[in-house]
Amino acid sequence: MLAGWLDLAAAADHFNILVYHHVSTDSPASTSVTPQVFREHLQFFQDQQIHVMPLAEALAAVTNGSPLPDKTIAITFDDGYRDIYDNALPLLEEFGYPFTIFVATDPIDKGYGDMLSWAQLRTLAQRGVTIANHSTDHAYLVRQQAGGALGRAGLRANIEQAQQRLVDELGDAVPRWLAYPYGEFSTQLQDLLKDMGYLGFGQHSGGVWAGTHAQAIPRFAAAGIYANTATLATKIGSHPMPIDEANLPNMLTTDRSPSVTVDFTDNLVPTLPLNCFLDGDPLPASRPTASSFRLSSPAPLTLGRHRFNCTARSASGAFYYWFSKPWLVSDGTQ
Ligand SMILES: [Zn+2]
Repeated sequence: MLAGWLDLAAAADHFNILVYHHVSTDSPASTSVTPQVFREHLQFFQDQQIHVMPLAEALAAVTNGSPLPDKTIAITFDDGYRDIYDNALPLLEEFGYPFTIFVATDPIDKGYGDMLSWAQLRTLAQRGVTIANHSTDHAYLVRQQAGGALGRAGLRANIEQAQQRLVDELGDAVPRWLAYPYGEFSTQLQDLLKDMGYLGFGQHSGGVWAGTHAQAIPRFAAAGIYANTATLATKIGSHPMPIDEANLPNMLTTDRSPSVTVDFTDNLVPTLPLNCFLDGDPLPASRPTASSFRLSSPAPLTLGRHRFNCTARSASGAFYYWFSKPWLVSDGTQ
C-alpha cells in the first residue's frame, strides 16, 4: 500500500522536458529528427495521452506544489534554426502542442539563412511560442581549455545583451531563462544566474521536481540516437530520483577522475537496485550508507563533457527513477 501510494504521489509532482534542435532531413543527424520522425513523436504523445504543457506552466506547478497530470512534458528547441518554423511549427500547431525556443541572438542579428529571422520569431511569439535566451554567440561560456571561460562580468554582459535583444525585438514577455550553450555550466555561472534572477537549463537527462536545482534544470535529448519512441517513452515515464541536488559538485572540474556522493531524500528508492553508467558504460555504485550512493570514474577522463547516469526501477515496475550528473573536465588552462 505504501509503495503504491508513493508511486501515485510522485507521478503528480514532476515533469520531463525534451530538447530538440533541428527538424529537417538535411541537418546533422546527431541533433536532428526528420519531419516524419517528429510527426511520429507528436502522434505518440497524443496516442499515449502524454500531457504537453507550456514550460512556464509546468515549472509554476512544480514551484507551487500544484499537482501535474501523469506523464507531463514540455517541448523545447535550442539554437533557433529556421527549420523549426518551416517543419516543426506546422506539425506542433496541427497537434496543438505548446513549445519553447532558446535562441542565440548574434546569428539572428547577422541574418544567417539557416536561422530564424526576427520577423519569424515575432510571428512565433504572437502564436504563443515562448522564446528565451541561449546567449549572444553560443560560446563555450565556462570551458577553460577552449579559451572561453568568461569572467563574471563577461558572463553577465553576454546574458544581458542577449536578453536585451530578445526584449527589444519580442517585448517584455521574454522569460528570464537561459539554456546553457552545449549544456555546459559551472557553480560560478549558476550562482551568477541566481543573482540575476534567471533559471538555467542544461542538456543532462532527468526530470524536474521540487528538488531540482533552479540553475541546473535537466532536459532529455529527443533527437539522433535518442529519437526512437521506445527510448522516449522510458524517459517520459521516468521520475526524478529523489536526491539532494543542492549538494552535487561543480560540473566544471579539473579532477580527471571525478566522483560524487549522492544523498537520497526518500526511504523507498534506496531499497531499489541501482543501474549506473559512465558515458553509457556500466559503472558500479558503492553504498557508503543506507541513504546514499557514490560514483567514481574508474580511469582518467578525456577533457570535455562526460556524464554519470543512474536508473532504479520502481517497486511496481511501472517506471524508472532517473539521475544524471554531468561533468565538464578541464585542464584549467586559459
Ligand atoms: Zn545550442
